[in-house]
Amino acid sequence: MHIIDFHMHLPPTPKDPVEAGRKLVASMNKSGVSHSVLIAVETSKSLFKLKMDEKALRKALSESGIHAVMSKWGVIRRIIENPEKVLEEHEYLLAEHRRDNRQILAAAEASGDRLIPVISYNPDITVEENIKCVERNKGRALGMKLFPTFHFIDPGDRKLYPLYQALMDNNMVLIVHTGCDPGIWELPAMCKTARPRSLDGVARSFSDLDIIVAHLGSYSLLEPGIFFHESIELGGKYENVYFDTSAVDIYFVGKAVSKLGADRLLFGSDYPYMVGLTLRDIVCEYIRAGWDDDVKMKILRENAIRLLGLHGWKIP
Ligand SMILES: [Zn+2]
Repeated sequence: MHIIDFHMHLPPTPKDPVEAGRKLVASMNKSGVSHSVLIAVETSKSLFKLKMDEKALRKALSESGIHAVMSKWGVIRRIIENPEKVLEEHEYLLAEHRRDNRQILAAAEASGDRLIPVISYNPDITVEENIKCVERNKGRALGMKLFPTFHFIDPGDRKLYPLYQALMDNNMVLIVHTGCDPGIWELPAMCKTARPRSLDGVARSFSDLDIIVAHLGSYSLLEPGIFFHESIELGGKYENVYFDTSAVDIYFVGKAVSKLGADRLLFGSDYPYMVGLTLRDIVCEYIRAGWDDDVKMKILRENAIRLLGLHGWKIP
């Protein structure tokens, strides 16, 4: 089968983006994946330093409540024991995983159409400048991704509406990370804007903007499926909302099929960030899933072809 993967990143090594892209395409060749959506990750160490110090960490802890103490103890204990080290590690990881727009575009261009680039929101520049970036990449990038967690933004913030308008005007999609993120972003107070319900007003106000809720609201190592129910609610209300299945336990994907049907679910691997899993492992789980063949075809290929086609990408 020629699978389309709607959620992939460049690996941290090799550093050279074109080489890293070649490595991805080699994994795709071994896994039956014909095309992948390659997502840029803009991170900001200075923004992190500005937003997060020991005081802010302690505040996030106290706001996270008793539920967090029970379900997120692993993270919380480390913060209490050594907050300085925890902050340092996060700064390091943000820098390590940064793959900016320029790199993604270079890797995609060298891949002969196998990699379809999605640029990242950049928290170091203004909304206006992000809009210019969208305009510059019309026809070159499929869309833009926002990371409410480490970009420290609320996707429902009206200040971002002009950006959504620009994406719509330029026939691009909006992708939003939902759920937690590793480390301190597992704390409820640190991922409260990365919830599908933050997108309710956006989906309503921009009914012609195709919005992809990454991770089905379910991303969490400590609490898988954390905001899954909000994805179902959002998907039930708005036809312009899609969901990618990256980093989601396949149990929740099956549940989404039964609640929403299969027409707006897009296979995503989050490769190579699924530690310990090859792309082939992730694909095989879907091939083996006990769903009807037409459901599998929709999730693994057909929905992606339809959506890409609407935004100017013709898959042969
Ligand atoms: Zn991802």
